[in-house]
Amino acid sequence: MTGRGGGGTASRYATSLPARRGRTGRRVAGTAVAALAGAAALHAAPAVLALAAPRRRFAPTLAGTGRADHVALTFDDGPNPTSTPKMLQLLADRGVTATFFLVGANVARHPRLAAEIAAAGHELAVHGLHHKLLLRYSPRRVADHLARAHELVATAAGTPPRFFRPPYGVLSSAAWAAAHRLGMRTVLWTTWGRDWTAQATGSAVYRTVARDLRGGGTILLHDTASDTAAPESWRATLAAVPTILDLCQDAGWKVGPLHDHGLPDPR
Ligand SMILES: [Zn+2]
Repeated sequence: MTGRGGGGTASRYATSLPARRGRTGRRVAGTAVAALAGAAALHAAPAVLALAAPRRRFAPTLAGTGRADHVALTFDDGPNPTSTPKMLQLLADRGVTATFFLVGANVARHPRLAAEIAAAGHELAVHGLHHKLLLRYSPRRVADHLARAHELVATAAGTPPRFFRPPYGVLSSAAWAAAHRLGMRTVLWTTWGRDWTAQATGSAVYRTVARDLRGGGTILLHDTASDTAAPESWRATLAAVPTILDLCQDAGWKVGPLHDHGLPDPR
């Protein structure tokens, strides 16, 4: 759906936003399109950089392009007591560690599970306090939310998080600056599995990831279904991960978390 290159226009990007139906029956993704257009006026460069193709070309560090012999594996939206432990078990069986971009409110709800992710050797990072478009909040509110999420994740991990990814990958200059002040580098992704959709299957997620995956890439997947994703879509992710790991192994790429990806320090 995003085509080779991961989407190069605002409308194409917008189709990739998880859609749900509001009271009027219109897809909420349409609202996001409007928000994105507004953001382009307010915070032009960061909003444009939310688009995958220009991001990879003009802002490789923001896209998560790291050292060529490494692939960063990242999971968004957890922790969730049903699905996250299954992903942790799979990764443990394969001896692979990853970066989990956690939603602060989910960490507050499941602090022990968040700590277990870190105890298993994975990196914890920040995916906002709530899984909402940050453009709906004032810069001060965004800074407050990120500070609270940062604190929740730092407490669970026992160490301050180094990376931030905004919900839906829609970044504002306020969010980028707030993350930077907290010592976090903002990282999006170079390829994704579109694993939040109702159509997602293990093989479809694998093919979508593989299409844009290169050495040095950052893979975006989800260890749980946020409330804008298809219920239980994480099962497709779970089915896809072993084949994605096989692909990386065959290509000679080591798979790991962002802190091993060779990105410059956040500060
Ligand atoms: Zn998310």
